[in-house]
Amino acid sequence: MRVWIETPSGSGNPGVSCEFRICAQNVSERALGGTISLQPPLCAKSDETMEFKTGILEPGADWEREVTVKFLYGGRTRLYCWEKEAQMETFGWAVFDVKGAGYYSGDTHAHSSYSDGKSSLDENRTSMLDKGHSFLYSTEHNTLDHLKEIEAFARTQSAERFLHAAGWEYTTRCGHAVTYFTAGEPYPPEIQGSSPNLARWQRFVDEITSAGGLVFLAHPYEAPCYEFGDGLLMNIDNIAGIEVWNGFNYHALNSRNRRAFSRWDRINARGVFHCVGNAVSDAHTAKKHGNPFIKGYLKELNADCLREMLENGRFFGSNGPELYFRMDEFRMGETLYINEERKTVKVGILLFDPAGRIEKIVLYRGGVNTSGQENPVKAVAEASPSSANERRRFEVFFELTVSHGEFYRVEAFTEFGAVAFDPEARKQEAGFAFTNPIWIERM
Ligand SMILES: [Zn+2]
Repeated sequence: MRVWIETPSGSGNPGVSCEFRICAQNVSERALGGTISLQPPLCAKSDETMEFKTGILEPGADWEREVTVKFLYGGRTRLYCWEKEAQMETFGWAVFDVKGAGYYSGDTHAHSSYSDGKSSLDENRTSMLDKGHSFLYSTEHNTLDHLKEIEAFARTQSAERFLHAAGWEYTTRCGHAVTYFTAGEPYPPEIQGSSPNLARWQRFVDEITSAGGLVFLAHPYEAPCYEFGDGLLMNIDNIAGIEVWNGFNYHALNSRNRRAFSRWDRINARGVFHCVGNAVSDAHTAKKHGNPFIKGYLKELNADCLREMLENGRFFGSNGPELYFRMDEFRMGETLYINEERKTVKVGILLFDPAGRIEKIVLYRGGVNTSGQENPVKAVAEASPSSANERRRFEVFFELTVSHGEFYRVEAFTEFGAVAFDPEARKQEAGFAFTNPIWIERM
């Protein structure tokens, strides 16, 4: 069976019903019947999996059904479909764009043929759109030559619903950094030397940030030649964050990225500044763009809102599952101020896996009292779904006593990442998502 979804043309609007068509074709040699599943996104009014019986189909016969989906809020998103008995063989999706405030996803570190990437800016954008993403930072090595072409795109009508921006990756022999919102600024002085130098890097970071830019240290453990070393990582100030999941060569759960997660926690356990954890593809091909991705709430799809989200870490990183985390009314990336030594708060975690393969969620706590430890975060709660429905949408609420100086973040595990899934090769990888922390501070 072949299964696909036809979307209405143009964009939708929150509160307005849209007609989709779910289609199947019997591509086998014999008469077949089956159950077709449609998974609307989380932003749909009803995100229940819909199931339809096709009845017996002769070889080559088509089947279709109109489906109405109403969206509650905006964002570009994916609707998934598959044949129930053969999910992996038939798993497919359609992308649909809903205007207005909502959760938007994208990639903030990737390359085109303007530096060492293999694909054009246009091909990279198309790959992002096909995956259901809404923003892309093309960050070329030590150049802004791509800025002109990106500015030309920004003047086209397509730019209304896709934010393409030019960043740069500052590459030296002793560490790489990705900078945003620096367009037009003079190229910073070369950082010389054969080993990372804290004072020189700090000058570079200060120069970029005082000009209104953001600096993220890239892939700290991708390879020994890119390592900054603890002397720099544990002492540099003023950076917006570090890449904890760089997808160029490795999955989030590979030891190189896990080391970056652990350093990230150690930086935050110092309690000096809020260090944001970013997930990027660092793709050099169009195909790899947007895997992994980040997703966060944007009032509008524009550079100012994206800056706010990046600077504060109001997002999760993922290769498929969607992960949302709250403490009282505070969301990931926000600070919960308390008056007293301790406070009991209400924790809410929601994990959505369109493929219905959730395995577990883990809540971690770190804090200034753990700053000397090699691994400063400890799991304080862990939960696994107990029904098929919970494996698709898993929501937990519980109370927790928190103290100032702590931070909390969540990781989630699924059988495979839907956005990383390659339909041609039927290639899958373990699904993973993480949130940025919620910070607990004294009022
Ligand atoms: Zn790169």
